[in-house]
Amino acid sequence: MKVVKFGGSSLANAEQFKKVGDIIRSDKARRYVIPSAPGKRFSDDTKVTDLLYRMEELAKEGEDFSEVLKEIRSRFDEIIEGLGMTGFSLDAQFEEIEKKMKEDPDPDYAASRGEHLNGRIMAAYLGYTFLDPFDMIFFDDEGTLDDRKTLREARKRLTKEQYAVIPGFYGRSHDGKVKTFSRGGSDVTGSIVAAACHADVYENWTDVSGFLVADPRIIKNPARIETITYRELRELSYMGASVLHEEAIFPVRRQGIPINIRNTNRPEDVGTWIVESTAQKTGYVITGIAGRKDFCAVLIYKDMMNSEIGFGRKVLQAFEDNQISFEHMPSGIDTMTIVVHADEFIEKEQRVVSAIHRLAKPDSIEIESDLALIAVVGRGMKSTRGTAGRIFSALAHAHVNVRMIDQGSSELNIIIGVENRDFETALQAIYDIFVLTQL
Ligand code: ASP
Repeated sequence: MKVVKFGGSSLANAEQFKKVGDIIRSDKARRYVIPSAPGKRFSDDTKVTDLLYRMEELAKEGEDFSEVLKEIRSRFDEIIEGLGMTGFSLDAQFEEIEKKMKEDPDPDYAASRGEHLNGRIMAAYLGYTFLDPFDMIFFDDEGTLDDRKTLREARKRLTKEQYAVIPGFYGRSHDGKVKTFSRGGSDVTGSIVAAACHADVYENWTDVSGFLVADPRIIKNPARIETITYRELRELSYMGASVLHEEAIFPVRRQGIPINIRNTNRPEDVGTWIVESTAQKTGYVITGIAGRKDFCAVLIYKDMMNSEIGFGRKVLQAFEDNQISFEHMPSGIDTMTIVVHADEFIEKEQRVVSAIHRLAKPDSIEIESDLALIAVVGRGMKSTRGTAGRIFSALAHAHVNVRMIDQGSSELNIIIGVENRDFETALQAIYDIFVLTQL
């Protein structure tokens, strides 16, 4: 049994809808379908979700929202007409949306309608049952997913239906209102449905043929990743590689259900498999490289720091008190470095510095900026000698100065800090030494 989720670009117009219909019909195991809202048809188009948010903002301000509503309506009508679905209409739903915007505008309700309406079209087009996630996905009073209730209720409803469409992105809040996940949240819905029905695989269809070893905006034609573990994916996505919503892996991961990322425009491609564990070799020692610019490093010096109990806690307290999360914490005998995101830190830097002085009484503090971090991730590194050596000699040959090194104890990744301006050169050098020379 397969659960299939289709992203916004896969459902942006009737032509894309037809491709999706063909994919679903070509495999009887594809029983539960999770659609996103219609996305962009061309690069500077607007996603329906963004139109819905705009409509709600106007409604809330008491302004005329009829033009935006018309634009939204035309996006759906274009799909219905293009699919030749005579006799099918969303009149009743649009009346209800208009009424709600006039009486009690709410951003979550508005945004959720993109998936809801697309789900209604999809169910009618395929001849599948429409199941509303409002009755299947529940959030608790803190706004987080209520796992137990959700799995129980979803399972109850799914077992009654052999084939069903369940719109992505939303569920029900503890006080009975529509509530959405954060942007891109249909990925999470797909994962929940897959977990609830104990699917064999969760297929996530998008507009790329899986994950790439490196960012194609920086590296030309990077190789594709065939198989990646959940943990490797976490490391890469936290460093900026994004295809899947970051919360989407948890529901399926708990049950050992693999995710297969596929391309709606190239259904013949096998895509990328995301799995719990695998004996498959990556072919290149490393699985992926990702990175981000604009970090700051706060260097704290204090003689005899190593023997002072509680020093680290006091330093971290200064960051916590200022609501700043830290990324890395390499340390030496009398130094400790805290790496933070520049955009979170810069405004508050002087407050943090004085808090560290007050709490931890260091000898001195230095701040360095314009730092980029690169994560080289690979399950194969653990059992291969010389990986770090290769990385650093590649960087030296490319004239990149390494400012920081941090290897996680899992040996799944090596984090390298370089100057912002060396970022692209460094990524290219690492990619070349591991991938290009192996091809
Ligand atoms: N339509 C929503 C968004 O654009 C959710 C999704 O596509 O997953 O964020």
